[in-house]
Formats: sequence, structure tokens, C-alpha cells
Amino acid sequence: MKAVFIMCDTLRYDHVNPEIMPFTHEMGEKGVNYTMFFGDGGHTKWSMPHFLSGQRKFDKEESFPYKMTQSGVDNKLVHSNAVLVQEKYQECFKEYTDMGTEMAPVKTGLRRKLKDAGLWDKTRPLRRAIIGRKSFNVPYRRAEAILNHAQKKLDQIDEGFLWVQLMDAHIPYSPPDLDNFEQTEAIKLYDLILKSLQGSGHEFTSIELKRIQELYAAECMYMDKCIEAFVKSNPECIFFLSSDHGEMFGENYTWSHSPGPHGVTPQLGHLPLIIYGPNVLNKKIEQYNCSINVGSTLLELFNINERSGYGRSFLRDVFQVK
Ligand SMILES: [Zn+2]
Repeated sequence: MKAVFIMCDTLRYDHVNPEIMPFTHEMGEKGVNYTMFFGDGGHTKWSMPHFLSGQRKFDKEESFPYKMTQSGVDNKLVHSNAVLVQEKYQECFKEYTDMGTEMAPVKTGLRRKLKDAGLWDKTRPLRRAIIGRKSFNVPYRRAEAILNHAQKKLDQIDEGFLWVQLMDAHIPYSPPDLDNFEQTEAIKLYDLILKSLQGSGHEFTSIELKRIQELYAAECMYMDKCIEAFVKSNPECIFFLSSDHGEMFGENYTWSHSPGPHGVTPQLGHLPLIIYGPNVLNKKIEQYNCSINVGSTLLELFNINERSGYGRSFLRDVFQVK
């Protein structure tokens, strides 16, 4: 058996709908769809340990990928999220590919050094002057590139598990097919969000808000198309699809998912959780579920008689119990 977890970083629950993400929505209609699933952290650093280790604190030995490795179950990670590198979350997997570093080592290394030194924001005007305002340099790899590489890794697995982290919904909101005019506008809006997070006090107009939401939705739409191609190419796999946190557009007087006094808000905490594939039941589940249960469920899926952290397996919701 092969199982794949598609983690759509920063995907809001309410965007998995027929207009924005038709394929992902259909996966939810045909498979198991939790309508009240919650992440336990408002951004990647806080949220991911609950998924991986079944508890608030990241603990490699308590993590489900480590326990899979110990039980001889192959497991791999493909991603381009700097937090998974900095916090060493990627290291609980038997094998991991950080595509951010591997595909652009100099650029990514420099960006991460500047961020660690607190100089990333200060050097933005200089970088913009060098690169120009028309080319958007997204700090992650797009879904198509990530999933192409993920396919290679999945083909190497006979029986086992793959975690793929897609970053497209994350700021900056810059769908790949923008023309020059739209690129310039997207950069301007991105700068306004960043400045607002730093306390600029900028009052967003209704037009700015609408454009920000449209660009975010376009990223989700693009991601959905890439997910569709990937899922359809692998009909033998069981897919789990979720998000580590959502995103805010001025609700709670703030933007994006920056750490702040808001902690976990409904916009950040309420997440999609869809399970889809061979023999998966067709069921909408309205009971509460949360991210600490994911690891224990994946362990049971591979017949590993252990729990990850405090999580309880919900596998009996997913398959017919014999
Ligand atoms: Zn995240």
C-alpha cells in the first residue's frame, strides 16, 4: 500500500469549494470529509509538531515518520518550506528533499542567512532595486515542480508513505500566470501586507482587499489543477489532504498568519481534512477532529501498533471495519 499526505500550507477551509478548488472539493465529496477539523497552531512552526509528533512540542522519537522508519516502513518528504528546515522537522523522515535549497542553493542560503540575522526586511528595497519590480521571486517552489519531484520519489516506494508540502497559498500571493502589470500590483499588495504586519497602520481599501483575496484564490485554483494531475496519475494511492493553518484577510484586525496576539483564530484553525482513494468510505463527518490524531492514524494504516504523542487513530472512520 502507498499513502500520500498532501499538506497545502496556508489553505483556508472555506476555499475548498466547487468554484475555487473543484477537484479537491470532489475528493471530499467522494471520500471521507471532516467538516470540523482543526489545526493546533496558527502558523507552521506551532502547527506542524501536532501533525508530526501528536503533541505541542516537536519530538523526533515521538513522530510518526520516525516510528514508521523503526518499523521498516519507507517514508519520504518533499517540500520547500524553510521552517521545516530551521526547526529540523524534516529530519524525522527517513528521507527528505528540501527543494528550496536543492534547486537554488545560493539564493535560498542567502535568503535564510539574511532572515536569521534580521536583515531580510531591511534589505528589501535594495533587493527590489536590483531585481526590479516586475519579477516576483516567490520564496518557495511552485506546486508543479514539487509534485514532479514527489512523483519520482513516490515511484521509488513499493509500500510506504510520502508527505508533500505545497506552498502556493502562502504569501506572496503570486499565481504563476500573472502578466507584468498584475505582477507589479501583486508586489505592491504584498508590501502593504508586510508593512501592515510591522505596524504601518495602513487602512486597506475595499479594492485592495478584493484583489488580495482574488490573488490568493487564484493560487488555490492553480494548486487544485496540479493536485488533480498528481492524484489522477496515482490511482492506487490513499491520499490525505489538509493544511497546517489557514490565512487571514483583515479579520481580527490582522493579515496572513503572522505570530501575534491572535494565536489561533477560526480563519487559521479550521482546516480541510479529506481522505480519498481505494476502499475509502464516502462519508461526511461533522464530529470534531484535530491534527494531533493524524500521526496515530497513519501508524495504524501501516499496521504499526503504536501511537504518536497523544493522538488517537481515526482510521475506523475511513475504512469499513471487517
Ligand atoms: Zn504553514
